[in-house]
Amino acid sequence: MELTEVEEFEKKLRKTIDRVLLKHKGDVIKQLWVDEYVNGIHCSLCGNIGVIDTSNATTPNGQIVGRKNFCICPNGRLAKRLNYLDS
Ligand SMILES: [Zn+2]
Repeated sequence: MELTEVEEFEKKLRKTIDRVLLKHKGDVIKQLWVDEYVNGIHCSLCGNIGVIDTSNATTPNGQIVGRKNFCICPNGRLAKRLNYLDS
């Protein structure tokens, strides 16, 4: 099946966006963190401990979906590199 001109354009655009996002993934995440989650000198996601604990999070019907996650902040990135997750 041949792609239409618009589909071909969208496919090329998607590839370009994916390539740029992959190349600048770290920058995008860092900027998102700075724009949305920095509170003074603290990370509002994890309180600077590098781990976000959502262990008690459940869906409205009670399914447990939480866990401990490495934060996207610098402390979280370091914790991930050191594989630091207390259980
Ligand atoms: Zn954090």
